[in-house]
Amino acid sequence: MSNTVHYSDLGLANTRDMFARAMAGGYAIPAYNFNNLEQLQAIVTACAQTRSPVILQLSKGARQYANGTMLRHMARGAVEMAREMDSDIPICLHLDHGDSFELCRDCVDNGFSSVMIDGSHLSYDDNVALTRQVVEYAHRFDVSVEGELGVLAGIEDEVSSEQSHYTKPEEVEDFVGKTGVDSLAISIGTSHGAYKFKVKSADEIPPLRFDILKEVEQRIPGFPIVLHGASSVVQEYVQLINRYGGQLVDAFGVPEEQLRQAAASAVCKINIDSDGRLAVTAKVREYLAQNPKEFDPRKYLGAAREELVRLIRHKNEAVLGSAGRG
Ligand SMILES: [Zn+2]
Repeated sequence: MSNTVHYSDLGLANTRDMFARAMAGGYAIPAYNFNNLEQLQAIVTACAQTRSPVILQLSKGARQYANGTMLRHMARGAVEMAREMDSDIPICLHLDHGDSFELCRDCVDNGFSSVMIDGSHLSYDDNVALTRQVVEYAHRFDVSVEGELGVLAGIEDEVSSEQSHYTKPEEVEDFVGKTGVDSLAISIGTSHGAYKFKVKSADEIPPLRFDILKEVEQRIPGFPIVLHGASSVVQEYVQLINRYGGQLVDAFGVPEEQLRQAAASAVCKINIDSDGRLAVTAKVREYLAQNPKEFDPRKYLGAAREELVRLIRHKNEAVLGSAGRG
């Protein structure tokens, strides 16, 4: 490909300094997914306002929905918007759940500062080989790489699994050594989507497997760990959605207290997608139900965007501890 663009030309940062500072400071960098303008505006606004470093994530599904070229230019716009807000927070553009070397290479060549190669569904040896291949390419351009060991249950775009398989701590040292990855996503009981646990009430939610996290930390001290599927499934939004015609039954997520505990450990990146989706859906439903004559998308999307700013500020300030660190 002749028209390549390096992330530094877009004003983006890789994850190296972000993670080093998060590790030392006992907090986690938020990674928010986006698919459209309003989500991106909300993420930038909230992170600039709270002075939080941020990872903007795009999944393969987001690239299919909104067009990869369009989204890349939006990320560039996001950096400029943050600077116009007098904020110099570090901003990373990351591929979430890359599933092939070719996709990761395409992102590296097109301005991403970080990519995930998810070979967690492969055999251990194939996961090592694929991850190593991506690392060798990405590191030539100083692009960070996230790998994954262990499988999360749930569904997120094309990524889905019926059952989770916890990360085996005895594999992490070998995996990190052989692949050269910059961070590692592990499976300790979180899952993708709005139905993280098969429970009927919040007090039945099982705790995350902090014992596995601890063993991983002991085997690869100071190495950045990533938590996927870490939305709390904010019940206020679930209730609003259901009040205004939705049907989300028994939707529960990871309690914020457990995420705080994780953020204080070697967990340096926490992925939040479902909570943002819930906030948008709740506010759109509420607005349209309360304003049946309104047909200007700016009104209901604006209400959703405003709520998303509130949610992200809260996550940065009260859950991940990333506020004031940018
Ligand atoms: Zn994920």
